[in-house]
Amino acid sequence: MGLFDSIKKGLSDLFGRVKDEAVDAAKDAAAEKADEAVDAAKDAVAEKADEAFDAARERLRETQETKKREKEAAAEAERRAREAARVCSQCGRHAAPTEKFCPDCGGKIVEKYRVCSKCGKQGTGDEKFCTECGGEIVEKTEEIQS
Ligand SMILES: [Zn+2]
Ligand SMILES: [Zn+2]
Repeated sequence: MGLFDSIKKGLSDLFGRVKDEAVDAAKDAAAEKADEAVDAAKDAVAEKADEAFDAARERLRETQETKKREKEAAAEAERRAREAARVCSQCGRHAAPTEKFCPDCGGKIVEKYRVCSKCGKQGTGDEKFCTECGGEIVEKTEEIQS
């Protein structure tokens, strides 16, 4: 092999190596960018999922609180209705929550309440028909238990 030939081969090898290295470097860079993009996408998805989860939990909590308040209000209305419904069975005088017998006539205090004849929902005012099912509201008398 002549000198010129070996220089040519040496250069050719060198170019080949440089080219290979450049290709590898480019591949590595591309792979790294792809990994970064995947990680960023994963983070974004996880974040969105967290946000959606938090929002759902918040809505659930609000719904539960609203339901609890509605239930409390209904119980309170029923309690008031029962208290207001205590009357003397003889003279019809309204009785205080603690009275068992009428201070005016000695008659027994009873609970008079209005209730739907169809679904049993207690009437809270002087409505004639049930606001829940349209059934007729009837008046009932009950002896006080306690
Ligand atoms: Zn009385
Ligand atoms: Zn009803």
